[in-house]
Amino acid sequence: MNERQHIETFLRRRHFHGVNPMAALIDMDGTLYDSMGNHADAWMKMAAEEGLSARREEFFIWEGRTGADTINTLIRRTFNRDATEDEARELYRRKTVYFQQLPPVSPMPGAKEMIDTLIKAGLRRVLVTGSGQRSLIDRLGRDFPGAFTPETMVTSRDVEHGKPHPEPFIRALQKAHVKPSQAIAIENAPLGVKSAVRAGVFTVGVLTGPIPLEEMEAAGASIIYGSMSEFAEALPRLLLQLFTTFLP
Ligand code: MG
Repeated sequence: MNERQHIETFLRRRHFHGVNPMAALIDMDGTLYDSMGNHADAWMKMAAEEGLSARREEFFIWEGRTGADTINTLIRRTFNRDATEDEARELYRRKTVYFQQLPPVSPMPGAKEMIDTLIKAGLRRVLVTGSGQRSLIDRLGRDFPGAFTPETMVTSRDVEHGKPHPEPFIRALQKAHVKPSQAIAIENAPLGVKSAVRAGVFTVGVLTGPIPLEEMEAAGASIIYGSMSEFAEALPRLLLQLFTTFLP
């Protein structure tokens, strides 16, 4: 399918007449930063110390959930009980410390070009992350100048429910002051895609890690690109197609 056909499929499914993108709702880990490997390593270190059973690839699949959610899953699986609030806070704090001790992550190749295209096209940008990891959030201004302000970020602190619940993307739509038909979402993880799709937004899935294409399709991505560089190159064309594709 070409881009126009993907857009038409989305419009039919949502009963929208067209998409008039005024805002881009953008995930952070694995989308703007090549950070998922470090996150998985930090989780594994904490889990090993605590005797929590976990496999490294699970942290890629679970990406987007809140830290508390992930910890609860690990505790439940290992000890057959829920994590206490104190426990969840303490284990997430340790995971965060281990993440910060790892070599710094790099911006995802192509992400800067993508952001520049969105700025040039006049789309509002809103960050939508399940992370509360200050070390990355604080770097955004340096790595992506002009892209976000503190008012245009939805982090784990702003939501009760993490992805795949639609709340993070609904909050992002509110921050951008747009309707679902006036936005696009950009995500690298199946749970993030699900969250954006449930919020009713045209959702671009970008493959930047070990997640297979089929998982992104199953999550309901409106269109999928094989890398961030590929998406960045296609973005001007995709925006034009979005602005000019309508259903009767
Ligand atoms: Mg992500």
